[in-house]
Amino acid sequence: MVIHPKIRGFICTNAHPVGCAAHVQQQIDYVKQQAPLDKVPQRVLVIGCSTGYGLATRINAAFGAGAKTLGVCFEKEPSEKKTATAGWYNTAAFHQAAEKEGLYAHTINGDAFSNEIKQEVIEKIKQDLGQVDLVIYSLASPKRKDPVTGDLYSSTLKPIGQAYTTKTYHTDKDQVTEITLEPANDDEIQQTIKVMGGEDWELWMAALHDAGVLAPNAKTTAYTYIGKKLTWPIYGHATIGKAKEDLDRAAAAMRTRYTDLNLEAYVSSLKALVTQASSAIPVMPLYISLIYGVMKEEGTHEGCIEQTHRLLRDGLYGVDPELDEAGRLFMNGWETNDATQAKVERLWHEVTQENFHDLADYAGYHSDFLKLFGFGIEGVDYDADVNPLVTW
Ligand code: NAD
Repeated sequence: MVIHPKIRGFICTNAHPVGCAAHVQQQIDYVKQQAPLDKVPQRVLVIGCSTGYGLATRINAAFGAGAKTLGVCFEKEPSEKKTATAGWYNTAAFHQAAEKEGLYAHTINGDAFSNEIKQEVIEKIKQDLGQVDLVIYSLASPKRKDPVTGDLYSSTLKPIGQAYTTKTYHTDKDQVTEITLEPANDDEIQQTIKVMGGEDWELWMAALHDAGVLAPNAKTTAYTYIGKKLTWPIYGHATIGKAKEDLDRAAAAMRTRYTDLNLEAYVSSLKALVTQASSAIPVMPLYISLIYGVMKEEGTHEGCIEQTHRLLRDGLYGVDPELDEAGRLFMNGWETNDATQAKVERLWHEVTQENFHDLADYAGYHSDFLKLFGFGIEGVDYDADVNPLVTW
């Protein structure tokens, strides 16, 4: 099969196995060029391990610390006619690279919100690892089925309280326009909290704790985006922000609940980056294209692999980690400091359809977007016939 990108709206509906493998390899190469992460423990569970921040954290733990990693993801396998999702190919490539280096890796593909997958993970930990010392919670999902009632909940990306009118960039039409986002109703807010809030993270930690597979002094973290004024109306102070606030509640509850193990539970505040999840959020492609340009000029731009490397080194296992006012591990100060935000705000007000490509780093945004699906990577022959039936 010859595979070229099929882009529909904000998503690419196919993926390139060789390109995804090259993208994973680039991240492994980065990690290997850094000093080893010698404080990171050896048994790591990553929930949401196949793309974006979760995949990058797993690569850092495995190739930076030599950790055994157990991953959970929800990806579609390939068929003769259709490629797999990118996360499937990323996982296959991760396994191949780990095996080459004699690193333990196991991945369970299924719904992390379900009791069955939690149970399967626990059995695998008992069988292969005994216990885990670090649990990364990096799920991003539009839906969640409640494991007890079977009810299906959907998350929405809407402002709260009042409609919000702002600029946005339509990646599929190459257009900067104004957009009005209607406010969420209470049900939509509650459903978003149900999907992206802390409940499932707590259920995971309770299941692991009660099964005796959490090691003493274990740590856990879930990822959040806090942002600043420009993104607050659609993120921080919006439906997704409410769900993220619920992570703070969950982290505090877990810190008091699992004192028997001295569990450390943190929310980690990370930088805005192009991932499959963030490209679906209205306004974010414009904000990210502008901030990429500013941060590249300032020499502070990072991708998922660099952010999570610092998170493990200086945050979760650092001597004196930087915390924000809510006690979160604070990794996005290079993005949210006043000087950088002032620059991006100025650009935000200036940007129009005509000057967009001069003011914003859309080339950088688009290239990162394509890379998520294994496209646009140097050295990969995209006219070659490749076998989509890759597995691990
Ligand atoms: P992503 O879309 O790249 O990754 C999502 C992961 O979750 C994938 O591995 C996917 O397979 C897995 N997943 C989704 N539903 C699942 C299910 N039901 N069962 C099992 N696995 C499932 O997203 P991302 O941007 O890396 O986001 C990860 C976390 O980081 C999210 O909490 C997000 O809010 C947060 N975050 C993202 C950004 C950003 O700009 N991208 C910034 C800060 C924080």
